[in-house]
Amino acid sequence: MIEVNGLSFTYPRCRERTLQQLDFRIAEGEIFGILGPSGAGKSTLQKILTGILKNYEGSAKMMGIEIRTSDSSLNEQIGVAFEFPNFYTKFTALENLQLFGSLYKKQAVNPMDLLREVGLQDAAGMRVSQLSKGMKMRLNFCRALLHEPAILFLDEPTSGLDPGHAEGMKALIRNQKAMGKTVIITTHHMKVAEELCDRIAFLVDGSIKLIDSPRELMVRRGTKRLAVEYRRNDGVLARTEFSLEGIGDNPDFLHTIRQFPLETIHSQEASLEQIFIEVTGRKLQ
Ligand code: ADP
Ligand code: MG
Repeated sequence: MIEVNGLSFTYPRCRERTLQQLDFRIAEGEIFGILGPSGAGKSTLQKILTGILKNYEGSAKMMGIEIRTSDSSLNEQIGVAFEFPNFYTKFTALENLQLFGSLYKKQAVNPMDLLREVGLQDAAGMRVSQLSKGMKMRLNFCRALLHEPAILFLDEPTSGLDPGHAEGMKALIRNQKAMGKTVIITTHHMKVAEELCDRIAFLVDGSIKLIDSPRELMVRRGTKRLAVEYRRNDGVLARTEFSLEGIGDNPDFLHTIRQFPLETIHSQEASLEQIFIEVTGRKLQ
């Protein structure tokens, strides 16, 4: 779906490259996360892939077409939710969607259906200036879907949302994947990446340090231990860790689980946050 080879980018009048020699592919139907601290180059990369910044070096292809040379037909294929969206604040939510929808050749989706999908049906007639941050984020999501794009770009989709609305946003994103869409998320939130993405790229100082699935990373780089919490005979809660290797024949482990009432039992995967620090030497925020 997207193929990037030797991609570099330098902003005009800047001496240093913002992106350096990136190589990666994104498959159709995948949720791909671009993860990195503030200033890493995530938004710059998104702007290149969405055809806004065209004077890049190397190659970036979408559906086989070099993005630099693509025309406006590319815009019909992609939906973009910018981190800081512009709306006409004196117009209503519905009017904004109608207006932005009219900019596309193809208008397949009824804006009212979209508003209903994200729980904004009652806000359709409200001016954008009256909407809360969470409502604006959901409206922004609707705006990206107006023309039923095959590829969706979401820049910090849960930023500023309370936990309830963040969960709702994640469900909406998963729903897009279920419909066969390709989704590219840029974020500095580990949890979002961990829960949503099929694969993630760690981007630091304009370079990709690693690409893998969050699950693989956490299992492979984890400490591979099992923590057991149990009640001792004297009623005190105890906790013991065992190596996962050969655990089925480990007499201490077998004794513990046979002898005492268990309270909890957990394998100890590394968190994505720990792995990020380990790989890049940097914190995310
Ligand atoms: P992120 O989205 O990961 O926070 P950005 O892509 O916004 O990172 O920025 C990456 C780097 O490029 C930063 O050092 C930023 O200051 C710089 N940068 C971003 N936009 C511009 C611009 N229009 N002109 C010059 N430098 C820019
Ligand atoms: Mg950004």
